[in-house]
Amino acid sequence: MTPFSTPVPSAPSFPSRLPAIGTTIFTVMSTLAAENQAINLGQGFPDFQCDPALIEAVNQAMVTGHNQYPSMAGALELRHTIAKKIQLLYGAGYDPISEITVTAGATQAIFTVVLSCVSPGDEVIVIEPAFDCYLPAIELAGGKAIRVSLDVQRNSTGTVQSYAIAWDALANAITPKTRLLLINSPHNPTGMIWQQVDLDRLAHLLANTNVLVCSDEVYEHMVFDGQQHRSASSHAALAARSFVVSSFGKTLHVTGWKIGYVAAPAALTAEFRKVHQFNVFSVNAPMQVGIAQYLADPASYVGLSAFYQAKRDYFRAGLAETQFKLLPSPGSYFQCVDYSALGIPQSELSEAEFCRWLTCEVGVAAIPVSAFYGAATDSKVIRFCFAKEEKTLETALSRLRAMPS
Ligand code: GLN
Repeated sequence: MTPFSTPVPSAPSFPSRLPAIGTTIFTVMSTLAAENQAINLGQGFPDFQCDPALIEAVNQAMVTGHNQYPSMAGALELRHTIAKKIQLLYGAGYDPISEITVTAGATQAIFTVVLSCVSPGDEVIVIEPAFDCYLPAIELAGGKAIRVSLDVQRNSTGTVQSYAIAWDALANAITPKTRLLLINSPHNPTGMIWQQVDLDRLAHLLANTNVLVCSDEVYEHMVFDGQQHRSASSHAALAARSFVVSSFGKTLHVTGWKIGYVAAPAALTAEFRKVHQFNVFSVNAPMQVGIAQYLADPASYVGLSAFYQAKRDYFRAGLAETQFKLLPSPGSYFQCVDYSALGIPQSELSEAEFCRWLTCEVGVAAIPVSAFYGAATDSKVIRFCFAKEEKTLETALSRLRAMPS
């Protein structure tokens, strides 16, 4: 007799909403780094602890009973603190009640911005290289991404000297169908920062359009060499059409807490919250209350650029002793390098293959810059994150210095 057996049911097949997308490069490289015990300079996160006073403030918030749903738009004390911070740094007045929303990190904020204003068929302009969540968000909203590349200035030996907005290409990309433009300063992965003249030029370009702006400013407190972060919120004409996104994960060294915010004029915020209330409802309460208390003292963020500049300078000085060509890093906590002149067979590899080799064989993980483009590209440039303890950077540098040549 044949034993009775139940066939294993198979899941119904359905068309993928993101057919061309695999797992995000940050997860891929962090997994590979862990499997190979490599120093992880790939995914951007600090390897040091936050201020114990911040942990204590969050702990106190839990102990004192802030454990139920906070307000959908965010704990009011945190929204007040955010409004004060923006006023202090950028001279802009946002109403905490109607213009500031706390989000579950910047990725959720950007996704919600896109979903709240992009309808099927709308065009969304993205400046490449671009953080990897932008294009899938546009695709899921049914929008059409219009990709404009940054202008790259090189010196006589071909090394990248600086990046700039390609203004003519950007102007040409704007059509009556353009709904949204995504900008990012300090820029991930190049570290490029917008200057006042860039904000002025963008405001002028958009003046007679209905184009909205999503300004990703998560690295706002990491701007080096005496320069200043120029927030879209600081420019009245731009602020009137902008969703400004930031991240406490970056500012407070707690990327795993997944808390950020969006500041936008009331009409934009109202549409944002229509979506936000149904994809997260609200963000965890004790961390909001703890962060509000901690951030009351601006010292918690005003010294951050100097702190990270010391790390950038240390890391760059070490890399200068290798054959990698250093690209500029005026902001963010990333340093890009060109590996084309290493004089080893691996310098012929694609960026993705090179990063895999570097992680598995050299023991240092990095991110291929090609992951920041919607179409195949390879310029032999990879990104390191220097938000690490000096001893971590030194171990990574000693491995990079010992590479075959
Ligand atoms: N922003 C971080 C980076 O660029 C990663 C964030 C993430 O992993 N989603 O490395």
